[in-house]
Amino acid sequence: KPSQFDAIVVGAGPSGNACAYTMAKAGLKVLQIERGEYPGSKNVQGAILYAKALEEIIPDFREDAPLERHIIEQRMWVLDETSFVGTHVRSADYDKPPYNRYTIIRAQFDKWFSSKVREAGALLICETTVNHLIMDGDQVVGVQCDREHGDVYADVVVLADGVNSTLARKAGFHGEIKSDNVALAVKEILFMPEETIRQRFNIGEESGVVIEMVGRITDGMLGTGFLYTNKESLTIGVGCMLGDFKKNPNRTSPYVLLEQMKRHPAIAPLIEGGEMKEYCAHLIPEGGFHAIPQVYGNGWMIVGDSGGFVNAAHREGSNLAMTTGRLAAETVIQAKAAGDGYRASTLKAYKAALDDSFVMKDLHKYRDMPAVLHKNPQFFTTYPDLVANAARTMITVDGIDKKTKEREIFSSFRKSRRLSGLVGDAYKLWRAFR
Ligand code: FAD
Repeated sequence: KPSQFDAIVVGAGPSGNACAYTMAKAGLKVLQIERGEYPGSKNVQGAILYAKALEEIIPDFREDAPLERHIIEQRMWVLDETSFVGTHVRSADYDKPPYNRYTIIRAQFDKWFSSKVREAGALLICETTVNHLIMDGDQVVGVQCDREHGDVYADVVVLADGVNSTLARKAGFHGEIKSDNVALAVKEILFMPEETIRQRFNIGEESGVVIEMVGRITDGMLGTGFLYTNKESLTIGVGCMLGDFKKNPNRTSPYVLLEQMKRHPAIAPLIEGGEMKEYCAHLIPEGGFHAIPQVYGNGWMIVGDSGGFVNAAHREGSNLAMTTGRLAAETVIQAKAAGDGYRASTLKAYKAALDDSFVMKDLHKYRDMPAVLHKNPQFFTTYPDLVANAARTMITVDGIDKKTKEREIFSSFRKSRRLSGLVGDAYKLWRAFR
């Protein structure tokens, strides 16, 4: 069958939108297929938007994109049962345009991004699921949708169908996603008057705060929590590796975990009075570098979450999604211009561009992190307790001299982990984050 489109993009999240926009803008005939009622209706994110990745695609996005607050302060908290020890980075420099990070509401943002894709000339069809890829020998030549006359043909198909990419699996491009390579995150949006948010977080009309959390809130599982300020709401969530939920001896469900987190004495006062507007759960591919599958082949490429492009160490996903989408699009544009066809031998330029970008460089830097943290739950249990206790001991003024306090702290560390354990853990942490 002759190709009806230069390219078909499956999915209208950030990766699919970035890809479809870039190709349509360059004059290619693009079809985008989204199973949701509208782009964003099925999508979940914290959500922090990293401006740089979007700027490279739509430089003037700030003019009309639905942005909530620009981030001027980042807090990193380590929590035990009753306290947190943290670092806060706040700078007046973050309060000067052009801002670098924003909170967004994904449903609104995806709708806006999609409107840009259509303005650029791509055809979007919603409420349509792609069930299979159509092959001609070893070449992908189109997609089969769940509609009558649902076979559509194109020179190249870009899979931007998110973390649970069944299409690539069905086509045999990669295997089942392992439960140790994927996190299950739950989050709520809590409505709160703007004035209350400004007072509680000491922020202005448009500025915001991000709080990232590790420690006892994940019940010994590998995971993190987060709290973000939107204009008139807060987003609060927690995510842990799916494999850990299965193995957790307390059988804590994600919902219970979030409820426990909301009751933590450091968090409860910040969200008090918040009225729940939305609750959702979603998977995040957090297997990192070693879990990235083959991402191109004859007539196909994989972008965004479906390729596992998430930097869990820095909680970055949407920017990797947009960047991989853009790089895949640029590969197609170049292939069309050169008339080289769309075999793997041509599309391998996509992988070369990825390797050359921050995407693969960052994932490579943290390549050992998932395995190291997985095998060492003490980083989420023992150490948060020890650190919080050490800070409390040093700060409490109770007539005990500081040298004695230091000895007490050191002895509490040694009792819990012994000297060899402490040295080993320091080495493991270095390996994870080197
Ligand atoms: P998605 O956004 O999942 O989009 C995939 C699209 O494909 C969907 O619209 C889906 O409906 C559609 N689709 C799937 N299958 C089919 C099919 N067969 N046919 C047609 N359509 C299909 N990242 C950040 O940068 N900052 C954050 O603060 C952040 N926080 C997060 C918090 C949570 C709780 C979660 C779950 C993720 C977070 N992420 C964050 C990660 C970020 O959301 C993802 O990396 C990003 O959404 C990936 O974009 P994507 O386009 O690849 O996939």
